Amino acid sequence: MADGIKPQPGIMDIALYKGGASSVAGKENVLKLSSNENPLGTSDAAKEAMIRTAHMLHRYPPTDHSALRAAIGEVWDVDPDRVICGAGSGEILKLLAEAYAGPGDEVMFTEHGFSMYPIYAHACGATARVVPERERTVDVDALLAACSAKTKLVFIANPANPTGTMIGAAEIARLADALPDQAILVLDGAYAEFVDGYDAGLSLVEARQNVFMTRTFSKIYGLGGMRVGWGYGPQPIIDVLNRIRGPFNLSVPALAAAEAAVRDTEFTDKCRIENAKWRDWLATALAEIGVPSDTSTANFILARFADAAEAEACDAHLREEGIIARPVASYGLPHCLRITVGDESACRQVVHAIAQFKGSR
Ligand SMILES: *Cc1c(COP(=O)(O)O)cnc(C)c1O
Repeated sequence: MADGIKPQPGIMDIALYKGGASSVAGKENVLKLSSNENPLGTSDAAKEAMIRTAHMLHRYPPTDHSALRAAIGEVWDVDPDRVICGAGSGEILKLLAEAYAGPGDEVMFTEHGFSMYPIYAHACGATARVVPERERTVDVDALLAACSAKTKLVFIANPANPTGTMIGAAEIARLADALPDQAILVLDGAYAEFVDGYDAGLSLVEARQNVFMTRTFSKIYGLGGMRVGWGYGPQPIIDVLNRIRGPFNLSVPALAAAEAAVRDTEFTDKCRIENAKWRDWLATALAEIGVPSDTSTANFILARFADAAEAEACDAHLREEGIIARPVASYGLPHCLRITVGDESACRQVVHAIAQFKGSR
């Protein structure tokens, strides 16, 4: 008996994260549109760079990620000394929570916010403070009204997942300006590269001491399987995170693939253009058959149905057709399905299947 063995407070409040499904029982060839993965795969340069590391897998990776940070610095015009790299941007978000929040503190995010945020909050023993949105969009006034001396971190994905909506630079600046002294605004830019002309909050990070930005290689770069992300922020915060980061958190192949991927802007430009084209086509085609969605700035759309029952029935029909979308009831959106923007053929298949479903009712 070891009744005295107990985890830290908060950990048993965590509901296990459920990733997007990748199979349907009895179906061989499925179309996976449940995890916002890149339909064009990964840049060839990144794949080749990864393969070239095969002869050095017995070596430990570098601890300072200097080559990857230098490449990020060049491509995004940021100071490499204020870049930190992690095993996915998830690791960076977790380090922020561990470093800046604990029992008695609040980690704030919004009603339909990314489901990893409460996990990071609970894991460090802090309280998750969930703030209402307005029409599936982050509401800066509601966030500011909820702030207190306990607020340590405010997590906002812009564009947001699973809603696909975003708020403007002026709204973000207004939020950063009015936060209490001890709070950090974390701008999760997982989908930022899909938005033409959006700086993901970089200029705000440069201008302020309380704004931190995270980015990922999992989405537009098509490297979700390699687990690489990065953060950019004020030097004091970067220094704190580096103290608790595992020294070998990124593998040799992951570092090589990410460095080549970030430099291959031709590939990401192509992905951004294709995504925007087929996202808008998909949203318009679905709206025409009675399935509206908010204007998405990301690589997915949030399709809205009449009610939860219709969304569930449509999901079941899609699975029957070998198409996997993402039910988002756990995000407080039981009447919606999140659908990743695939390539042309994928988008046409989804619209065809949903039209069939609608026509049969
Ligand atoms: C996909 C996603 C991420 C990326 O997580 P990684 O750990 O970098 O794979 C981060 N935030 C949001 C909102 C996401 O949807």
